[in-house]
Amino acid sequence: DFIQMFVRKLRGEDQEEELIIDYETKDVNNMTVKMPHQCFINGKFEDAENGKSYNTINPTDGSVICKVSYASVGDVDRAVVAAKEAFEKGPWGRMNPRDRGMMLYKLADLMEEHQEELATIESIDSGAVYTLALKTHVGMSIQTFRYFAGWCDKIQGKTIPINQARPNRNLTFTKKEPLGVCAIVIPWNYPLMMLAWKSAACLAAGNTLVLKPAQVTPLTALKFAELSVKAGIPKGVINILPGSGGMVGQRLSDHPDIRKLGFTGSTPIGKQIMKSCALSNLKKVSLELGGKSPLIIFSDCDMDKAVRMGMSSVYFNKGENCIAAGRLFVEESIHDEYISRVVEEIKKMKIGDPLDRSTDHGPQNHKAHLDKLLEYCDIGVKEGATLVYGGRQVDRPGFFMEPTLFTDVEDHMFMAKEESFGPVMVVSKFKDGDVDGVLQRANDTEYGLASGVFTRDINKAMYVSERLDAGTVFVNTYNKTDVASPFGGFKQSGFGKDLGEDALLEYLKTKAITVEY
Ligand code: NAP
Ligand code: MG
Repeated sequence: DFIQMFVRKLRGEDQEEELIIDYETKDVNNMTVKMPHQCFINGKFEDAENGKSYNTINPTDGSVICKVSYASVGDVDRAVVAAKEAFEKGPWGRMNPRDRGMMLYKLADLMEEHQEELATIESIDSGAVYTLALKTHVGMSIQTFRYFAGWCDKIQGKTIPINQARPNRNLTFTKKEPLGVCAIVIPWNYPLMMLAWKSAACLAAGNTLVLKPAQVTPLTALKFAELSVKAGIPKGVINILPGSGGMVGQRLSDHPDIRKLGFTGSTPIGKQIMKSCALSNLKKVSLELGGKSPLIIFSDCDMDKAVRMGMSSVYFNKGENCIAAGRLFVEESIHDEYISRVVEEIKKMKIGDPLDRSTDHGPQNHKAHLDKLLEYCDIGVKEGATLVYGGRQVDRPGFFMEPTLFTDVEDHMFMAKEESFGPVMVVSKFKDGDVDGVLQRANDTEYGLASGVFTRDINKAMYVSERLDAGTVFVNTYNKTDVASPFGGFKQSGFGKDLGEDALLEYLKTKAITVEY
């Protein structure tokens, strides 16, 4: 058809090379899903150089979904060569920005055509509840590509008045240029969406990339690679390498031909990456790291909304949510009512197979994570916090954890300081009217990713939102992220934004050109 012809023309090919994929297929969720499972390098799916592979697991029952290639350092080096070639010599670098945008729109359309398949794969590989995977994991990924596709032909510099070298005159103008080969390393909580947040901005800016998904959730990234070929993205522009952080991720941080590394994950690994990026070739980094986001609930809030949103601030995506409210501060006079309302709501949550349309709460992403969460709860109990609800593994196959609620959490406790990254609500009380006191406690953390406040008093809301030391503040809402709004942390939650225009700038460099005439 026309688009395919156009795409071939852009790629400088008369005949499209046929893409050969050794799919793993599975009949699940009333459909047949076709899953690529090999490394994607230079437009082709192939086994890892050394032939190694590993099993990716379905957390709903602990079963093996399929074998996935386990990339090695040699595979990274080949992928970087391909990405460099694609950037320097391929059609991608010479293409009109508007045509580049067309390709990203086409990619978004293909993701939409395959949204049920993508959401099903996400659900079996990560335990995401299917209805949420469709709306958020996949839905927001599509929106992200559309949003950044629109930026491609709007990347502009400035004209800047400078001192003239009389009798001559001068003009300075700036151009925004892509950085070159970029590496992207992402975690397992929103496998496709984390890929989309970073890749869409990176590609819109005109870069090429090598991406490492989390070992435990590689499948939607590889499906995405397949769709990128169908969208006509030239070979070498996108390379995807499933494999370990210690090997593939580390080599990406160290590689001398990579100019930028975009990372989402934990704070300790972020530090390690930044150090390696500095020592190797001073590559640019952006780091979206851990969080312990405070949510302050004042007694003058809309109680129904504060209960509903307080629940989703913690239990959304089984708590595997970077901006999850890590600590709730509830004003003393409404504390007990708030807790009993939350308990009532937790009891209504349906725990079950994430593919079941009525399920609210699925399994944790993988076994080691579940074990860590159970230990987190044990420590809470030992330190004297009150376990009001849950705290245990659910008695069924797979890696399910009860939605959990702790109260009487004091500032010195482990729970008050450390992120759980799971379905654990951690509640502390604050004295009626003590706005500055609760702000001080809310900010007493090395993290600064997100925060929230519930109050009907606009003055109080503005005061609190000005003083919360976090990259995002939600007022009378929570989890309200949008592709157009910059997302990222302060302090040890990292720096460099995803989403919005800010994210695009993360993948560009500014050149100043001065003319004398
Ligand atoms: P992690 O251990 O930091 O892993 C994240 C990614 O880094 C994985 O792909 C991992 O590979 C890789 N990695 C590990 N060691 C590496 C190294 N030496 N060099 C380069 N890459 C390396 O994080 P996690 O515990 O899996 O994920 C949960 C964390 O992510 C939480 O702390 C959470 O707060 C954070 N997070 C933050 C955001 C945000 O936007 N700020 C969003 C989501 C999650 P493997 O696959 O081998 O582990
Ligand atoms: Mg898995």
